[in-house]
Amino acid sequence: MTVSSFALRTAVALAYSATLATLALPVQAAVHTAIPAVGDQPYPGTIVLNVDATDLSQQIFRVRMSIPVQAGPLTLLYPQWLPGNHGPSGPLTQLAGLKLTANGKPVAWTRDLVNVFAFHIDIPAGATTLEAEYQYLSPLDGAQGRITMTDDILGVQWASMTLYPAGYNSRRITVQPNLVLPAGWQFGTALETDKVEGGNVRFKALDLDTLVDSPLFAGRYFKRIDLAPGAKVPVMLDIVADSPDQLEATPEQIALHRAMVTQATRLYGSQHYKHYDFLFAISDEFGGIGREHHQSSENGVKTGYFTDWKKSEMGRDLLPHEYTHSWNGKFRRPAGQDVPNLNTPLQNSLLWVYEGQTQYWGGILAARSGLVSPAATRDTLAATAARYDNVRGRGWRALQDTVNDPIINGRRPLGWGNWQRSEDYYSEGSLIWLDVDTRIRELSGDKRSLDDFARAFYSVNDGSFTPAHYTFEDVVAFLNKVQPYDWATFLRARVEDIAPKAPLDGLARAGWKLVYTDVPSDVSKSADERSKATDFSYSLGFAVKADGGITSVQWDGVGFQAGLAANTSIVAVNNRAWKPELLKAAVKEAKTGAAPITLLVKKGNVFRTVSLDYHGGLRYPHLERIPGTKDRLEAILRAVK
Ligand SMILES: [Zn+2]
Repeated sequence: MTVSSFALRTAVALAYSATLATLALPVQAAVHTAIPAVGDQPYPGTIVLNVDATDLSQQIFRVRMSIPVQAGPLTLLYPQWLPGNHGPSGPLTQLAGLKLTANGKPVAWTRDLVNVFAFHIDIPAGATTLEAEYQYLSPLDGAQGRITMTDDILGVQWASMTLYPAGYNSRRITVQPNLVLPAGWQFGTALETDKVEGGNVRFKALDLDTLVDSPLFAGRYFKRIDLAPGAKVPVMLDIVADSPDQLEATPEQIALHRAMVTQATRLYGSQHYKHYDFLFAISDEFGGIGREHHQSSENGVKTGYFTDWKKSEMGRDLLPHEYTHSWNGKFRRPAGQDVPNLNTPLQNSLLWVYEGQTQYWGGILAARSGLVSPAATRDTLAATAARYDNVRGRGWRALQDTVNDPIINGRRPLGWGNWQRSEDYYSEGSLIWLDVDTRIRELSGDKRSLDDFARAFYSVNDGSFTPAHYTFEDVVAFLNKVQPYDWATFLRARVEDIAPKAPLDGLARAGWKLVYTDVPSDVSKSADERSKATDFSYSLGFAVKADGGITSVQWDGVGFQAGLAANTSIVAVNNRAWKPELLKAAVKEAKTGAAPITLLVKKGNVFRTVSLDYHGGLRYPHLERIPGTKDRLEAILRAVK
């Protein structure tokens, strides 16, 4: 706030008190402000939702809605709590131009002062339909949000496009969606199409809950690949891309994706969808994404997925992860995740099952299908184990508490992530499930495994689409059916305890241990390439971008002790101008010498020299076999016949 703001504040305060004195009572009396509680009665009539997605040059989605109404108070909601986002992330800022009419006359709206996602309206006497007109403005650059429209690709997330009446369960509100696409474009979606005429697509009416769970990808360049040829329940890969060459998958690549589908259906022993569509964007412009839905998923990767196959290996657990969510998260759903409408807060307590176990199976299915090699899977596991073993924040914050991070932080960058912790329930969760898996294997003499849990837990009510809720006690009960053990105590200790060390017992029981060498694995190298940084996390305790900017300082690490922070840049290493190779060479040299490494660093306009008295050499995580033990990891990653 600047100095002049005092005058501004005073002026506003005076104006406000004048308004209160003269206008407050009549204005307050004229507008209803209560948001009705959700009931279970159906919303009368069908809402028609029309989205025009043809303005590619300005990335504007134009929306018109016809909502059956009757005279009296009505509250419209813009979805705030989006399933799969785990937080209150509805892109309200991107909604603009809201105009309402009834009987051809304007109808006023007032935004709720407490819940800004709610719009209060008084429907005039005699009106039976409320017409709403507004735009959803796709972010124009990444800083504004995720880009959902480019010149070649667009994604329709219906939750971003729709308003809906408060007071009703979203499964009891019927919507008939229509979409206008750019001429010649094709699309993929789990929605049932009623009629297609040119770019005009009419979809069958359905409940709001399923609509929001059934997004659409459309593109100038489109290819549909059948991932389950001849199967009773179709599974499709619907690809859109920046250019036609990006669509070209080789027969071998297609075979690996088909194997992934086969391995998943063998693992889960059931399918809870009529058909499944992987919506898959290969683009450097369309916002990256991995978002689960019951009968589809939104997946966005960078260009080169098929055409630079070696390089894309690290991202190839994305599809099996999102596919797994059809079973874990959508069909079997933590009770606190099944809420009556899209503005009811989600309760995330079991995300270490919902996301943690999905992370575990995503990696395993990628390996079992051959999408990712066993060596790369081990390197990823080493990177995960090292990362969580060095998360200092575990000293004050239990894994369980990190399930709140999507609500607390919404994935904004963190200054001290290693101390603050962030959504660790994904990957640390996967280490816990490795622990569970290997423990079942050990206790049962390798006769049973977490596969048996998956088959039992996810195949209840085969063919049913109705979410089957689960609680902590249900998870424990199903584990006990597979292998009797005190799973409740076991899980609670790993999830709820403040522990100095990561849950690495599963790794040891799988026959492997975490070691550090001075040579980075291919996974570490490709992580550096992706982040355009050099990672010294396990030596100097920070990573550095190519321009010298320090990132992700390990709390209490060598760099931290020297007073470094993530908004500081390295200007020189041992009095030579900054280059990443120079720092690597200095770390190597210091291993055999006694002299510290000196860095000239710059923070704002201030330069200073820091001295790093570190002589441990370069350190990168790897897995090493524990001699004389059973290689259970090999068994876990082996394809199921
Ligand atoms: Zn997930």
